[in-house]
Amino acid sequence: MIARKTLRGLAAWLALAYTVGVVSPVEGYLKFGTRIGDRIVSLRWNRIPVRYVVGDLGVVGVSADQLQGAVDRAFRTWEALETSDIRFEFAGVTSAAAVQGDGVSTLGFTNRPDLDRVLGQTSFFIDTRSGEILEADIFFNSAFQWSVAPGGEPDRFDLESVALHEIGHLLGLGHSAIGETELRPEGGRRVLAAGAVMFPIAFTAGNISARELKPDDMAGASDLYPNGALRGRTGSMSGRVTKNGGAVFGAHVIAFNLQTAALVAGFSVESDGGFTVGSLDPGVYIVRVEPIDDASVESFFSDAARVDVDFLVSYYERLVIVPGGGGTDRLEVKVTGK
Ligand SMILES: [Zn+2]
Repeated sequence: MIARKTLRGLAAWLALAYTVGVVSPVEGYLKFGTRIGDRIVSLRWNRIPVRYVVGDLGVVGVSADQLQGAVDRAFRTWEALETSDIRFEFAGVTSAAAVQGDGVSTLGFTNRPDLDRVLGQTSFFIDTRSGEILEADIFFNSAFQWSVAPGGEPDRFDLESVALHEIGHLLGLGHSAIGETELRPEGGRRVLAAGAVMFPIAFTAGNISARELKPDDMAGASDLYPNGALRGRTGSMSGRVTKNGGAVFGAHVIAFNLQTAALVAGFSVESDGGFTVGSLDPGVYIVRVEPIDDASVESFFSDAARVDVDFLVSYYERLVIVPGGGGTDRLEVKVTGK
């Protein structure tokens, strides 16, 4: 069975309640998953390199060649991760609109003024028996002003940054919750800091800082597409989050590496409140557990009603040592209600 799924787009100001299809998160940074019987299987590509074509339409400020250049740089950034074996292959330029279900993964501009807070969006076809991704199409909304200038341009969104985020979805990654926003007086939210390219709310126009992957993005891609030779170098952390002895679903679990200051996070998404964060550098970590921002639960979870946000930020009682090539003992992080 083949299913069409559309991931929530990268929102310009606010993670908007726009979605088509159903996406269930599984363990991790947030990896997308599909339910097979009573198991949840991560979505991933099995046929690597992933082949893609690029649309031949430009917009004001970005020619078709520049679109191709920005998309190519974003693919190369994901490929450059030495801990991941993901690879891509450019298969040409197309004048055809993306046709979902034709087996060709297409990236290009589409004018969607109706989606006035969506900069880009990824849709894909998967084999729901295996979780294999068969095709993914990405559009960039030409209703916005775009730029590919090396230093960015005021009032224009950076195409390479948004491409890097959408390609993260194409890989099978969902949203990361490592970031801070503030409400704008005129409505919507402004990003103050983002610890992941996969944070769901884009930096404002002119900002180019999302052209580089952060540790959380790197861990997510490396967990889905590990480099076989380096696999034994990293470790994982797992455990469960509980409140009054019961499972807490949807808690954001952040691992902070004391030596490198890397922040990598996952969510408790198992029925017993269990979580696993993989592809961590070996080392000593502080573990912080927090509720996700209740204004944007839907940016992370399709089944938002299950997510528990009624607890106080807590830290695991001890430092945690992540071994190379292995996992921690199962930690129990106890939180208390607000
Ligand atoms: Zn997104």
